[in-house]
Amino acid sequence: MNSRWSDQEAERFVARYARRWGRDLALRTYASRLLGGEPSLVLHGGGNTSVKTEITNLLQDRVSALMVKASGHDLARIEPGGHTGLDLSHLVRLRKLDQLDDRQMVDEFMTHRLDPRSRVPSIETLVHAFLPPKFIDHCHADAILALTNQPGGEALVRDALGDGVLVLDYFEPGFSLAKASAGAFHRHPDRTGMVWMRHGLITWGETARESYEATIDLVSRAEAFLARKASRSLTLRVRTSPEAAQARWSRVAPILRGLLARPTGNPDQPWQRDVLLPLQSRETLDLLDSHEGRSLAVTPPLTADHLIRIRNLPLWIEPPESDDSHAWKKQVRKSLSDYSRDYRAFVRRHRIPDPESGSSGDFSPRLILIPGIGAACAGRDAEAAGIARDIARQTFTVKARIARMGGTYQGLEESHLYLMEHRGIQQAKLAGAEQPLRSHVAVVTGAAGAIGSGISRGLLEEGCHVAMTDLPGDRLEGLAAELNGRFPNRVTAVPLDVTSPRSVAEAFDSIVLKWGGVDLVVINAGVALAGSLAEMDSGEFRKSERVNVEGTLHLLSRAARHFRLQGTGGDVVLVSTKNVFAPGAGFGAYSATKAASHQLARIASLELAEMGVRVNMVAPDAVFSDGARRSGLWEQVGPDRMRARGLDREGLEEYYRKRNLLQARITAEHVARAVLFFASRQTPTTGATLPVDGGLPDATPR
Ligand code: ZN
Repeated sequence: MNSRWSDQEAERFVARYARRWGRDLALRTYASRLLGGEPSLVLHGGGNTSVKTEITNLLQDRVSALMVKASGHDLARIEPGGHTGLDLSHLVRLRKLDQLDDRQMVDEFMTHRLDPRSRVPSIETLVHAFLPPKFIDHCHADAILALTNQPGGEALVRDALGDGVLVLDYFEPGFSLAKASAGAFHRHPDRTGMVWMRHGLITWGETARESYEATIDLVSRAEAFLARKASRSLTLRVRTSPEAAQARWSRVAPILRGLLARPTGNPDQPWQRDVLLPLQSRETLDLLDSHEGRSLAVTPPLTADHLIRIRNLPLWIEPPESDDSHAWKKQVRKSLSDYSRDYRAFVRRHRIPDPESGSSGDFSPRLILIPGIGAACAGRDAEAAGIARDIARQTFTVKARIARMGGTYQGLEESHLYLMEHRGIQQAKLAGAEQPLRSHVAVVTGAAGAIGSGISRGLLEEGCHVAMTDLPGDRLEGLAAELNGRFPNRVTAVPLDVTSPRSVAEAFDSIVLKWGGVDLVVINAGVALAGSLAEMDSGEFRKSERVNVEGTLHLLSRAARHFRLQGTGGDVVLVSTKNVFAPGAGFGAYSATKAASHQLARIASLELAEMGVRVNMVAPDAVFSDGARRSGLWEQVGPDRMRARGLDREGLEEYYRKRNLLQARITAEHVARAVLFFASRQTPTTGATLPVDGGLPDATPR
């Protein structure tokens, strides 16, 4: 690993930030980002950095300050404000204490912040306070962990890094680690860094560059050592190709996702689901295919901060032997119940009487390893599952490195594992916004249109993951990219032609590959054709039929099969139309084909209820646009309607507004809210139609 330090770039940070934040913090920010930019050094909020500096208060007194990374911030994108400023002279004095529990420690931080608006600083803050050097960098480098997480690791660290570093046994992050580190430092103040067994590396310096380059130097030495020692390779039983792994994933992921779901006891929201992301890298597949795979992979995490993401152990499941999904379901159910039994026992063995430590009552695994398929990474949403996946990838890299040097992996002891997973200060990092559709995956057809984009946005605002499907093209890609900016990790564009059953099947597969399953299907794609029956071209009529009727059928049929496989119910919402109840002259093809699709959805409500699937319809009157996005349907039929009524565009919109009881202009957002009413399961309702039309007595469903 090479130093990426550039004096020029460092000066750019000074130019940008020093005026407001001071030169020290500007350089701290630059070096922190260099560290954060290397995934093999830190991942997702792992690692932390600090600088000791002075600030001037209102009375013009100079106050010594420790600027330390706030908990949860990511070094790769950190801003100066991502460091919390604390009263250093007070923190240093805490070293005199014999004990300090988490609550007291955090209270000390919160009452000694220099800015009351700054966030809780890192759990490792006192390490930064107690070690005297000005700049301090701490990371969980892969190469260092490959040395520390083995029996006899201390000797390996000394072999690899020489005598210039201190080596400290494992200490609980927090006060005890800080005291031990300070003690070791003061006994040997001449060293350049310290390795914490089964935790990571800490380096220091009087300048940001010195401390950063000490990290790079030590990690490079560890990497070179590992490369020298890598004498063997994993022995593979078979070698799974990524294509085969993907094909198998699309068959088994919905089953696995369904079995992982926890019953809630609430009949309207009966399941607490997870989003499931596959990890199918070459390295992962090889590890799982190897003879050593199971004993190597089913071991504790690399460091304590990974525990809240991937738990104490992954679950290993053998792949299905045949296409008999029934037998495999039974096998997975058994494995999951064993896992939860063992996990419960683990919690019981170590439960400590700390009111802030606790268990959420969820005893399911976060990583499920299946040879020939890969690792399934679970989380409450795609962001959480993505973090678990990145950590899993790093974990496998390190464990495979250890195997290649003929070593044995050794993680933390069980009591430490329990403590670090259930400490209140750790669990607080997991608290996310609990939105109603947080763990849901929806597919929306016709998503690039006005109503489709409105529905997609409405679902995203409630926390849903949305696969936006439509005919391939810039319209779809552009909209998905725009929404992905606002709702990162939760939007994907999937090209789909609803008239082709094969295209529908492929779309479902690609969504399963992305998030593990589907919970909500919004059938919105439709085409309109204006013209009297006398003039009707049967070829054109058939086009309407293929999209509006067969398209609906393909979606319903695929959804039914998927929901059966997943086994946790599901929802379908069909975007019907007021024309089903009050057809319009000159609009026969549209009214008739939409009536057929509406009827199909009603049948689906009868057929799928036994699986816990609800099928409902929303029936809007004319929606002309969603913001600047014009409705494709109205672009087609609008001119004809305008001619028929002698109106311009604005006049036509006014005409539709005035014809309803509430004189309401119907928007895509209104339709989205109606879809959300069903999707969030406010009432035990299926087979029902909710009009979104401002009140049209002739079109009231009856
Ligand atoms: Zn750490």
